[in-house]
Amino acid sequence: MTSNDFSSARRTPRHDLESPSAATVSAGPDLGPAPADLLRRLRARGAADPVTHVERVPARAGVPAPWPSWASAELRAAFTRRGVVAPWQHQADAATLAYEGQHVIVATGTASGKSLAYQLPALATLLADPRATVLYLAPTKALAADQLRAVAALELEGVRPACYDGDTPRAEREWIRRHSRFVLTNPDMLHHGILPGHAQWSGFLRRLAYVVIDECHTYRGVFGSHVAHVLRRLRRQCARFGATPVFVLASATSGDPATAAGRLTGLPVTAVTEDASPRGGVTFALWEPPLLPPDSGPAFPVPGQSDGDLSRSVPGQPDGGHDDLRQVRRSALRETADLLADTVAEGVRTLAFVRSRKGAEVVAANARRALDDAVPGLGDRVAAYRGGYLREERRELERALLHGDLLGLASTNALELGVDLVGLDAVLICGYPGTRASLWQQAGRAGRSGQEALAVLVARDDPLDTYLVHHPEAIFGAPVEATVLDPANPYVLAPQLACAAVEAPLTPADLVLFGEGAKEAVDELVAAGALRQRPTGWYWRHRERPEVDLRGEGGAPVAVVESSTGRLLGTVDGGSSHFLLHPGAVYLHQGVSYVVDDLDLADGCALVRTEEPDWSTHARDVTDLSVVSVRSYVDAGPVGMFLGEVDVTSQVVSYQRRRIATGEVIDTRPLDLPTRELRTVAVWFTLSPQSLALAGVQPADVPGALHAAEHAAIGLLPLMATCDRWDIGGLSTALHPDTEAPTVFVYDGHPGGAGFAERAYGTAAAWLRATRDAIAECGCETGCPSCVQSPKCGNGNNPLSKPDAIRVLDVVLTNLPD
Ligand SMILES: [Zn+2]
Ligand SMILES: [Zn+2]
Repeated sequence: MTSNDFSSARRTPRHDLESPSAATVSAGPDLGPAPADLLRRLRARGAADPVTHVERVPARAGVPAPWPSWASAELRAAFTRRGVVAPWQHQADAATLAYEGQHVIVATGTASGKSLAYQLPALATLLADPRATVLYLAPTKALAADQLRAVAALELEGVRPACYDGDTPRAEREWIRRHSRFVLTNPDMLHHGILPGHAQWSGFLRRLAYVVIDECHTYRGVFGSHVAHVLRRLRRQCARFGATPVFVLASATSGDPATAAGRLTGLPVTAVTEDASPRGGVTFALWEPPLLPPDSGPAFPVPGQSDGDLSRSVPGQPDGGHDDLRQVRRSALRETADLLADTVAEGVRTLAFVRSRKGAEVVAANARRALDDAVPGLGDRVAAYRGGYLREERRELERALLHGDLLGLASTNALELGVDLVGLDAVLICGYPGTRASLWQQAGRAGRSGQEALAVLVARDDPLDTYLVHHPEAIFGAPVEATVLDPANPYVLAPQLACAAVEAPLTPADLVLFGEGAKEAVDELVAAGALRQRPTGWYWRHRERPEVDLRGEGGAPVAVVESSTGRLLGTVDGGSSHFLLHPGAVYLHQGVSYVVDDLDLADGCALVRTEEPDWSTHARDVTDLSVVSVRSYVDAGPVGMFLGEVDVTSQVVSYQRRRIATGEVIDTRPLDLPTRELRTVAVWFTLSPQSLALAGVQPADVPGALHAAEHAAIGLLPLMATCDRWDIGGLSTALHPDTEAPTVFVYDGHPGGAGFAERAYGTAAAWLRATRDAIAECGCETGCPSCVQSPKCGNGNNPLSKPDAIRVLDVVLTNLPD
């Protein structure tokens, strides 16, 4: 372990923390101990030092820039009235590029003032040209409403900003179409409402000067691929009316934002990434919970038969939920609860972020108990906070925290957006939240009155967390994780082309606009009878519009219904339903346990009843994968790296029941569910058997070596692309009939692919290097959930060989060019 306190050699990291606002200076009790002192005391508690790294993120003075000369006195005055004295350099740079007609993305940290970067050119243009219009897109209605307030508060003559979304009353819609010059909406409304109604919007679209795409990093994967085509449809309609709007995008910091923005819009985009806003200083510690003494956890379950790790989203499952895996490390939840109790005991106002609602409640309850043991009554100063509270309850908690009645709060990321909590001294982050943007957003909650704050990332037992606490440069250095999407996905392209054809017949020029694969998709739509080719283009043949849901994926969702009451508990996406809702499955919903009586696939409905059995259920599947085509490959001697299309066939065939307390397998029960097919994109590598033998991997250990490498590689892919491990699946085999070699496959868990495997292929050396390091740096002996075990293994985490996985990856990395 290295501890790098107050390292001055490290270059200033490129991210930002919210700068404390002057309004918080007077509030709250006295400040607690200095972060460095506090941290010293926290880490001195146990036998081993759990801190792997301390980063001192210095306070940064902002770099202001003069108002651009093209911003009128009226506009400057409006911003000055709202407290903006001058733009920061990155705002001025991005704004001027956009004003000059370049498509631009500003990718800087939370609270760096990205909105000014698009408001300036957009509003300057609206003031200079009384006919011009602006379209603003946000991923959520709430964000659009926020922006509306901000723009309206400027009180600029003739701009008439308005939200246009599903909540907009019918009566107001026509007025907005005719009179608003700054329309705020979301991609769904653009897709379902504005583009199909383009005739009514022609006046607006004809004069469209800017399209603003806020928080554009949220458009990723299949959803992002859909949005990419909605934007192409928008550009097509604008072009028909003679408009060529400039696109201004705002994004969280990410790797390669210009490329991501280019894919999203289909246009060349310039990136502005140098953040010139001020921020408060933070002492940021990376914390790895200690290994437990051997044999202190439940036993490891018995192996199953198939080998495939399928991508499944697991709604409602608590985190820290590896109850079936051997516990090797102290859990992040317990560690966070202890830290929370300790900081509260020190009088430090602390917010702990926990991924699940149940986890937040566990952390709060444990911290309360520990505090009450020390000083009866002290536990009352800790509470849990989650989404779903009534507004008054939230306000009460916020008030109690601000006044110091409450010192500790354990929260889900419901607090990440939208709730205004100020004046915190410390933030504990229980488990990496998935992206650097979220991490900095959460850390940025700490710090008041320009004081130093403490942030602690507590690693969960997950390969990515393990990697990050041992590789601080991946957090504090330049970002590598990129927002990926794949507009060429035929499952996205064809329905989007159908929507476009309804809006106006498709022409050969449109095929260029919609990009790679468009011609094939049109041909298929013609063959299927959806389009008819005429001399003037391809026409939509049906009366009704195609039904296309931007967010729909993985088949129709399955409704979970409580049979005794008929109450709808929630839905599970079709892809996960066989895993989570098979008859006999124990299904968790908001901490309550249900057992599935019946899964009716035809009706898309599962009937459940409340029951709290003392076992959990674990579905097993048999997976087959065949290579359809190879898109690209690297021949690296004994190693081959490939990207291509594959067919994945899987069938959930049985499930195990395991005792919750011990992990003991009670029995395995057969299931009778149909097979399912997935045509998707995969990255795979092969190794020659000779190279494996030379590296010291015995033939009998090859399956375990490949399987362990596959698990860890899936766990580390979110380092390179904004996905989570449930978006991807994998399969490894000592001999695959299509590759005729030992092979590890990692595939997108969405029909047609979502860009994750492609990103993995493009960054293969860095990705597999990180995978190798995560395995090698885990302190366990034979493999654990922090390195090579997977909570979603369809094969019961067997066989697995941790040391041989490192050998396999070394062979790949030695041969693969960087
Ligand atoms: Zn391990
Ligand atoms: Zn597995």
